[in-house]
Amino acid sequence: MRVLLVNCSHPSYNLGMEKARRWWERQGAEVWYAKSFEPLLVSNYDVVWLSAIFSWDVLELCRLARIALDAKRKVEVGGPGTFGAVQFIIQELGLLPQFKPDSRFEKEPGEYLYVFWSRGCPAKNCSLGYPRDGRPPVCSVPEMEGSKYTLYTDIEPARVIADNNLSAVPRSHQELIVERTLTKAFPSVDANSGFEPHSMRPWVIDIWKRLPLVAWRFAYDEVGERDKVLATLEMLKAVGIRPYRCHIYCLAGNEPLEDCIQRVNEINQWKAYAIVQRRRPLNWLSKKHPLPCLHDWTERKLIDFQRWGNRLAKGIPWNEYIPNYRES
Ligand code: SF4
Repeated sequence: MRVLLVNCSHPSYNLGMEKARRWWERQGAEVWYAKSFEPLLVSNYDVVWLSAIFSWDVLELCRLARIALDAKRKVEVGGPGTFGAVQFIIQELGLLPQFKPDSRFEKEPGEYLYVFWSRGCPAKNCSLGYPRDGRPPVCSVPEMEGSKYTLYTDIEPARVIADNNLSAVPRSHQELIVERTLTKAFPSVDANSGFEPHSMRPWVIDIWKRLPLVAWRFAYDEVGERDKVLATLEMLKAVGIRPYRCHIYCLAGNEPLEDCIQRVNEINQWKAYAIVQRRRPLNWLSKKHPLPCLHDWTERKLIDFQRWGNRLAKGIPWNEYIPNYRES
């Protein structure tokens, strides 16, 4: 069996495709891993799997999948990027994308750059995954992975822990993750998606401060979360973790401009580090098409705000920065 795996979100690391590669190899298949392929060469393969991590890579995924289908190859498509594009993909390819973790290789043994010790997120108070206003979710985790946790115990630790809401994971599982990760003696560990202020507790910090975390990551995505974010900073300070070690994700475009400015400014006043990410709907298919925006945002303003928030907000107020973007 000759298998071609295509990571349509190259150069981003695609954990699902890495697991799929091992899964196929374990079954004796010859596996090729690529970011794309030459149409004339697709007949060299019996099976073609294509994966997109981001929705804006789905158009390319469909283009390549169509070539493989027309060449009568056995084709499957999937990845988290296909979550918001299921109907589009069915229409384009007649295939149902595998947008959830794939049970065939989700627990494929091996060493990877990333690891998930849990799947799912039960944070019903989070409006990004559980919108209260009838809007589609901005976070796909509850629908993709479930509103209850699935916990993995017998897996290989990795330096990047990608779980989506670590602080709400059961305490015994948090202890297991940290114990198992410590056995690898990584010089640094990145709890990449991090913790949620709503579920942060002193015992969570006691467990995780045993690891050499590159930063304490958590989110301040809505002004209404201010008290919880401040309480998290206080809990961390109480055990000697200074605010500059806190990298706070700050979504832009989900609230009116003034609220987003307030959040960025507050993070800087607290002497923490703001990581501004612009809101991009899960069904936004292409960087070549206008980004659907809420409130008074435009895509241009969002890109500019992200740049200001991540690089310049400590020194320049937003209202002084506006003339610069108008001139660009
Ligand atoms: S807490 Fe995080 S993972 Fe859970 S729904 Fe909200 S944004 Fe998604």
